[in-house]
Amino acid sequence: MARPEHALVIGAGLAGLRGAEALREAGFSGSLTIVGAEPHLPYDRPPLSKHVLAGAIPAHATTLPHGLDADVDWQLGTAAASLDRQAGRVLLADGRALPYDRLLIATGTRARSWPNPHEGRLSGVFTLRGRDDAAALRQALEAGPRRVLVIGGGFIGCEVASLCRTLDLPVTLVEPGPTPLARVLGRTIGAFIGAIHAGHGVDLRCGTEVEWLEGEGGRLVRAHCTDGSRIEADIAVVALGAVRNTEWLDGAGLSADPGGVDCDGAGHVLDAEGHPDPQIAAAGDVARFPHPLYDGRRVALEHWSHAVAQAAHAGRLLAGAPPDAAYGALPTFWSTQGDLVVKSAGLTEGADAVAITQGDPATGRFIALYGRAGRCIAAVSVDSARWLPAHAELVATGAPFPPEGAATDRPKNVEIFEPGFS
Ligand SMILES: Cc1cc2nc3c(=O)[nH]c(=O)nc-3n(C[C@H](O)[C@H](O)[C@H](O)COP(=O)(O)OP(=O)(O)OC[C@H]3O[C@@H](n4cnc5c(N)ncnc54)[C@H](O)[C@@H]3O)c2cc1C
Repeated sequence: MARPEHALVIGAGLAGLRGAEALREAGFSGSLTIVGAEPHLPYDRPPLSKHVLAGAIPAHATTLPHGLDADVDWQLGTAAASLDRQAGRVLLADGRALPYDRLLIATGTRARSWPNPHEGRLSGVFTLRGRDDAAALRQALEAGPRRVLVIGGGFIGCEVASLCRTLDLPVTLVEPGPTPLARVLGRTIGAFIGAIHAGHGVDLRCGTEVEWLEGEGGRLVRAHCTDGSRIEADIAVVALGAVRNTEWLDGAGLSADPGGVDCDGAGHVLDAEGHPDPQIAAAGDVARFPHPLYDGRRVALEHWSHAVAQAAHAGRLLAGAPPDAAYGALPTFWSTQGDLVVKSAGLTEGADAVAITQGDPATGRFIALYGRAGRCIAAVSVDSARWLPAHAELVATGAPFPPEGAATDRPKNVEIFEPGFS
């Protein structure tokens, strides 16, 4: 293949930045252009729902440090609108066309908005994905609302709700599932974590849904739930998960949908017939790929460490690393919920059993190990991170579940639970 001359990175987020750095580190010396829909240089998102909302740092202090030289052409504040693979160019929303012979797709995800646009536009209704969202929400929290309503009990919802308690703000979290985090951790572990949040004063309403948001004079005043209850609140944080930014790929002949853009094991994107395009790779939240640790199941991960590792891999790949080098880093994640730190290694999806292998949920510090068909597939630590590396090893090697052998401080008879995914 000819020596590449024009590398284009679409998406100026964590994966785009780390992918661009990897291209350069792997010896790519041609022109390098990074296109970002937002006007900001790449910034870090995890602090937005933690330090920024807490007021510990301003939103603009999240800019990511980087090792790129001044020769990078930053095109910020303009989105990619479409991809023409035949012509080898990306069209921008402002009408310009940028050529490429190497393309990294790193457009991430956006927050799912409230389904009723009129209600979603009420003053006091927020989503949290970007740095401007975090700055606006911080300002609203600082103003001392009567009550904050968090809609959705996933990781972001739990982080925001627990943060409100740290700020001594009344908060109600509404989650349609049986417990917070039930979709990702199952209801057994979700119930343990929910009890910790409830103990810190979060008003948890599980098993019901916010049906509609009522405004007065354009401001949110209350929410109405499907169980007939009403919640008086002047702030609502819509935390209903994320949507992958793949619309700009419509018509490009790639295998892409709202669940992500498909890649092969090496990281090249797949066309509609399933053939890899050797000029294009994808990385981060937007990429869906077969994970070798999970029998090649196609996954799309929304994890910070994954965005870094997959982007570094994709950058090397586009710079000419052997195309058969498969990407398969062990997925890891963390979430700070008030003073509670939840960390995970591996993927819980498909687990048929879970065991508490260290600590005790009653004390709020424990490790849960997830198994599937007699193998360890994931571990989750709650305020017990020092035990996680040993458990991550069990997951990475697909060790037998329940685990064999006895650590000195492991409970003797490990009880096995139904994880509660349904
Ligand atoms: C509030 C919050 C807290 C988080 N906390 C944690 C945590 O504690 N632990 C953890 O592991 N993960 C956490 N995450 C997830 C983590 O931040 C993401 O996995 C990571 O940011 C993914 O990086 P990315 O570059 O793939 O996507 P993104 O960060 O979404 O970056 C993609 C960029 O592409 C841009 N873009 C989109 N469409 C276009 C287009 N058409 N043209 C040009 N540019 C485009 C977007 O504006 C964006 O800047 C958190 C996420 C959020 C939002």
